[in-house]
Amino acid sequence: MISYEEALELLRTGIAPLARRTVPLAAAAGEVTGSAISARLTVPGFANAAMDGYVLRASATSTASPANPVHLPVAGLIAAGSAAPCTPGPGGAGDQAWEILTGAPVPATLDAVVPVERVTRVGATDGQPPSVMISAPLQPGQNVRFPGEDFLLGSTVVAAGIRLAPHHLMALAACGVDEVSVAARPRVAVLTTGGELEHQGANLAPGRIRDANGPYLRALLPLLGAGVVTTTTAADDATELRDRLQLLARTADLVLTTGGVSAGRLDLLPAAVREIGGEIVFHKVAIRPGKPVLHARLPGGALLFGLPGNPLAVAVGMRFFVTPALRALQGLAPERPGPAETLEPVRGRGNLRFFAKALADVDAAGRRHVRLLPGQESFKIAPLLRANCWAIVPEGTGDLPAGSVLQTLPLYPDDSAPP
Ligand code: AMP
Ligand code: MG
Repeated sequence: MISYEEALELLRTGIAPLARRTVPLAAAAGEVTGSAISARLTVPGFANAAMDGYVLRASATSTASPANPVHLPVAGLIAAGSAAPCTPGPGGAGDQAWEILTGAPVPATLDAVVPVERVTRVGATDGQPPSVMISAPLQPGQNVRFPGEDFLLGSTVVAAGIRLAPHHLMALAACGVDEVSVAARPRVAVLTTGGELEHQGANLAPGRIRDANGPYLRALLPLLGAGVVTTTTAADDATELRDRLQLLARTADLVLTTGGVSAGRLDLLPAAVREIGGEIVFHKVAIRPGKPVLHARLPGGALLFGLPGNPLAVAVGMRFFVTPALRALQGLAPERPGPAETLEPVRGRGNLRFFAKALADVDAAGRRHVRLLPGQESFKIAPLLRANCWAIVPEGTGDLPAGSVLQTLPLYPDDSAPP
């Protein structure tokens, strides 16, 4: 039996990212960048007005005061989307202002925008153009957005290994990016095993139970960036199991099984994996729940995870083994657990690392606390409905007093924080 850290290391070193593919930006949300994406435009691309107002040369307003306002003739209107008009340079035909709207280009010889609320406009009279009265000096650059203040042409907008969220698409679109190279979505085949499983209804024959793992996995895998290619069930029968595995290995990057992996007479999965030529990377890890977890490589390269059948063993197996594996297949960085203080003593589980259904919250002073929920048995699903995280109780440290710091992971990965 290996430790959890040893198992994780085997996953991290043994799994290479899948091939990449190119997708249009419009279809890229939720995909993982396969390489760094650079800006194809400088953003802003040109000096433009940050406010509605009048664009002028700041130096023309240096003497402006309420008692002695500066009057500038208004040459016309510059709207967003138009090209900047040519205006006389310094020493030319005299200073002018242009009415300008937010986002419209600032002419090359002008350098400041006075907001519309801070001027008085005087209408045209006797062949004189309209003018604006400015009663305070402006600084060069005031209310102007300059080229490259947001992104520079060629600079990295999004690094490799980032799951693209809406805000990434906002930045990429602004930077002129139309397609992106992303990791292929791992194709996952799900095989729930057990002669007791039913898939419908509440009218169950004696000894039969509903398959809770299949719906869980079908719902969870897409959240982890994987595509579910098949979901199927096998009875506890060596031949059936072997034939199913062989078939699934051909169509999937990852085969996920539940049940039949521990030490019972009908736990037939390890033998079936060996029989089809699978190489077992590890079987049994010093954890609870889910100790009998099995990881193998199948002929043709597909990965296999055999999770024990108890629903909580499946949840732990998914969170602490399959999620890291799927992240590695997509080139996503490993997650980092976050600390929280336990308010109650925590019982150690000897040489096993214990993954506990837990509830974390932040108190009024900003301290994060975690509470292990009652009902930690691996068949109990109900406590999971009250949990918002997993608390990780390390192996080999004995019982922990109240006030100890435990590492926690949210129930589902959160990739929204910048790396
Ligand atoms: P096993 O790992 O096959 O020995 O199963 C361990 C426990 O999990 C048994 O009580 C099974 O009935 C239960 N179990 C196995 N598969 C499922 C499933 N798909 N949904 C709910 N419970 C299951
Ligand atoms: Mg079983």
